[in-house]
Amino acid sequence: MNRRRVALVTGSTSGIGAGIAHALAASGHDIVLNGFGEAPDIERLVDTLAATHDVQVVHEPADLANPDAAVALVHRAEHRFERVDVLVNNAGRQHVAPVQEFPPEQWDAIVALNLSAAFHTIRAVLPGMMARGFGRIVNIASVHGLVASVEKVAYVAAKHGIVGMTRVVALEQAANGITCNAVCPGFVDTPLVRAQIERVAAPTGGTIEDGARALLAGKHPSGRFVSIDEVAALVAFLASDAAASITGTALPIDGGWTAQ
Ligand code: NAD
Repeated sequence: MNRRRVALVTGSTSGIGAGIAHALAASGHDIVLNGFGEAPDIERLVDTLAATHDVQVVHEPADLANPDAAVALVHRAEHRFERVDVLVNNAGRQHVAPVQEFPPEQWDAIVALNLSAAFHTIRAVLPGMMARGFGRIVNIASVHGLVASVEKVAYVAAKHGIVGMTRVVALEQAANGITCNAVCPGFVDTPLVRAQIERVAAPTGGTIEDGARALLAGKHPSGRFVSIDEVAALVAFLASDAAASITGTALPIDGGWTAQ
């Protein structure tokens, strides 16, 4: 019988999600990874996590834009480890364009992955958490769940939506030992943001460093990116027993962006 807590982290083959998987493995969770990537890279990540932290790690490749696949992912994780104690909804995508030029198929894809997928995984995971009287749900929103920026209509709408959903889940589950919180990072240097750095740098023929500086200017008073490890440590804390009374929050981790 497995006694460690079990964490399912969506979109954990890259960027912030992979960092969260490391932090939760380090704090003694068995891990269900999810996300796309090359098979050898994913195998290496599974082996490294398991060997480094002496926990069990599996990868489930579900495409979360598909609601049935999102539900099936939770059920496969529960089948594999008997339960899911910690759910981190992290998988996300971005597309940047002004509203009048924003492709409707990008709107649908972003809302499906960044918002609806979290509804489906939460809906599927709650019965088990309620039966056991324990659960930690962390939704990786964004500063764009709290404030807007130009050219990100679908992303901002979906991230504001996930902050609202977080509060409803928190209220409904407050007396059941289940917390639900949103984490709202500013810019983190991951593949998702690399595309934006390159887009900012391109018109002036600038370097990646110039693009990064331009992206951070006016947004991050800290003058630097938020690190993956900083976001991962916050998620690991929210998943811990010490965070039992923190629920329904949308926590910025943004170098001062939303204080302005
Ligand atoms: P990333 O592109 O590095 O990683 C995205 C992950 O999601 C990958 O593992 C990818 O395989 C997976 N994924 C993509 N589409 C999927 C699908 N249909 N089904 C299942 N998995 C899928 O991105 P990241 O920057 O690490 O972003 C992770 C989360 O953090 C996202 O929700 C993003 O909106 C949020 N976020 C990122 C930043 C940032 O600056 N990077 C800031 C705030 C919030």
